[in-house]
Amino acid sequence: MPLFQKAAFSTTVAKLRDLPADSQCEVAFAGRSNAGKSSAINTLANHTRLAFVSKTPGRTQHLNYFLLEPGKYFVDLPGYGFAKAPEEIRSQWEGLLAPYLRHRDALCGLVLIMDSRHPLTELDLQMFGWFAPTGKPIHVLLTKADKLTRQQQLLVFREVQEVLAEIGENFSLQLFSSLQKSGVKEAEAVLAGWLDLPLKDDPAPRTGLASEKKARPKKRGAMGWSARSGSSVTKSH
Ligand code: GDP
Repeated sequence: MPLFQKAAFSTTVAKLRDLPADSQCEVAFAGRSNAGKSSAINTLANHTRLAFVSKTPGRTQHLNYFLLEPGKYFVDLPGYGFAKAPEEIRSQWEGLLAPYLRHRDALCGLVLIMDSRHPLTELDLQMFGWFAPTGKPIHVLLTKADKLTRQQQLLVFREVQEVLAEIGENFSLQLFSSLQKSGVKEAEAVLAGWLDLPLKDDPAPRTGLASEKKARPKKRGAMGWSARSGSSVTKSH
């Protein structure tokens, strides 16, 4: 059974005071609208429509919580990048997102979704540069990898890795395709480490989209976890 198969919609949060009090560890998903965030959450949960609940009226600008296990959640953050009134963006950011990302103790890592054909948008870089100083890990999913040739995948992987390495340390990245369901095991391994969930030992066949692994000395970040390549280094709590 896929690791996050039991994920179920839990609640929509519009105000900081409504954040679930029982959360011990939660992983947030951020990304530009249309980058494939909902599809990636659905793929990880092995559920065709789970995260589309976040796209229903009244929920698109809020934090949508999906319960994985007691005390453990995925949090779907509002997609960014579509033209909105600057005032709207600013108040959303200042009122909810910035304090959430900065001060939420239960937040144990950020999954940053980028369309592999259009990675590193200005807002992606802002989000990365803004979250990196928290010391918590960031895992980048380069989505829609099925739209690229193997050669293009390698190029984009290296480019993104190099650019992000200039900004932060505690990150990893991988190629991912919800369409082909590839890259799922790699993502599960990273997120299971953050969430302290046991990984099943049924290694799936490699997808050919797995992150490059580099034999580099492990550096310990503030969260006890660090990786620049997409190697699935898990932290121990
Ligand atoms: P979101 O706005 O970031 O939540 O993006 P969605 O998950 O709704 O996806 C936006 C569009 O990209 C939809 O038309 C999806 O079908 C498509 N899409 C998402 N993931 C993939 C993928 O892995 N491969 C391909 N080819 N299309 C995808």
